[in-house]
Amino acid sequence: MSNIRTITIEERERQQDCSRRVRDWYAARFPDSVPLACVRTYGCQQNVADSERLKGMLAGMGFGFTEKAEAADLILFNTCAVREHAEDRVFGNVGALKNLKRRRPSLVVGLCGCMVQQEHVTEKLRKSYPFVDLVFGTHVLHRLPELLERVVRGNGRVFERPVEDGVIAEGLPVRRDGGFKAFLPIMYGCNNFCTYCVVPYVRGRERSRDPGLIVEEARGLIAEGVRDITLLGQNVNSYGRGEAHGVDFPTLLRRINALEGDFLIRFMTSHPKDATPALFETIAECEKVSRHFHLPFQSGSSRVLRRMNRGYTREQYLGLIETARRLVPDIAFTSDVIVGFPGETRGDFEQTLDLIRQVEFVSLYTFLFSPRRGTPAATMEDPVPAQEKAAWFQEMTALQETIAAQRLAGMVGQRRRALIESEDDGYLEARLPENIVIRTQGDASAVGHYATVEITGARSWILSGRLVTIEA
Ligand code: SAM
Ligand code: SF4
Repeated sequence: MSNIRTITIEERERQQDCSRRVRDWYAARFPDSVPLACVRTYGCQQNVADSERLKGMLAGMGFGFTEKAEAADLILFNTCAVREHAEDRVFGNVGALKNLKRRRPSLVVGLCGCMVQQEHVTEKLRKSYPFVDLVFGTHVLHRLPELLERVVRGNGRVFERPVEDGVIAEGLPVRRDGGFKAFLPIMYGCNNFCTYCVVPYVRGRERSRDPGLIVEEARGLIAEGVRDITLLGQNVNSYGRGEAHGVDFPTLLRRINALEGDFLIRFMTSHPKDATPALFETIAECEKVSRHFHLPFQSGSSRVLRRMNRGYTREQYLGLIETARRLVPDIAFTSDVIVGFPGETRGDFEQTLDLIRQVEFVSLYTFLFSPRRGTPAATMEDPVPAQEKAAWFQEMTALQETIAAQRLAGMVGQRRRALIESEDDGYLEARLPENIVIRTQGDASAVGHYATVEITGARSWILSGRLVTIEA
């Protein structure tokens, strides 16, 4: 049995009371204008989904939204901790607000999300960024109204970073940016503790949402006109593990697939150690589930995978790809890979190159290892110089570009069904289920519709094509 705590109705009502008081406070202080919030999101899709909830709560407090920091009454950074580079960018961008805050003391500057769930970050903000008013971690996102009320009422700087694990906040208002595309979180946290990764420390233990609520949310999105739903979790394959309801990920996919409507179901991320033949059989049988599978391998060397605590070998990963291709012949794989993990040798790296050649991914998210404080890998011996790792990185991206270009060139002449996502200057961008973009000529009225496109040309990461038919 899990020890998940879903926030209570009383707690939700308490936040709604705070929300009303914040709205009244701004209305009394600035009667002639609507307060504006500028919410900046860093990192992964989970953060994008969290920001949609933050914006939903802010809209409930009477806020409008702006992209311009100079125009905002509240600037909120929803941060990422996965790599050092992401953290440096946030510190740089927050530092740049110092003068703005000096000119306009009523401006509220806030930070939330994964980065500030780390104690050393909150200490740095406390000491070196005195103009930051509001800092709150991942487990108290739903308490934004209460925390903001404390700031605007002049109760000083607010830092809230409890290690309150196992919380699920249902019923938060959502303000989506996506139109016909939507993210739907199905679970939070991670139990895997890959030795390089900070996520389990900043997001807490794995906890799954109630399947009935997820299906209802999907139904609501489809009714709103959403045509492309991405189910989110750090490891969706372990959805429902340890829960009394007994619904696992394949069962959840089948339930969403059974909903009426013309829509595509995507999901991310899958962990190879928990991907089963039953999952691939489900994909094969569910016509609305995307044939795109994001399956991070991280390294092609079993020795490195063991040191990463990934729970599978190179051979098991390749075996999984083979099983998937047998059960779902048109499946397309994308993946994540880390170069320069501590102790990785040239021989290990060559196994990574070899795996990339064997699998022929449609695209790869490539990362240079970034030591994260508190993770085991941060203290492992790391003898390979940064310059050499950078050269390996280049070698790997060049290989992937060649593979992707060959794959895409092989698609020329095909007719495919794709969702038209955007229009710019007479050109449309349509996306295939495997996440490849096709550029065609056409007008904006086609956006949000499925279309048949004939593929006429290819570059390494994008196709060009001709519109054949647009569906109603
Ligand atoms: N849960 C997902 C999984 O296991 O595949 C991904 C989560 S993580 C936010 C996204 C990617 O960031 C990982 O797949 C990994 O490739 C990369 N990553 C995580 N920690 C990293 C680190 N310390 N240095 C470099 N890349 C890292
Ligand atoms: Fe990080 Fe591994 Fe969990 Fe993914 S599965 S979030 S890489 S610890």
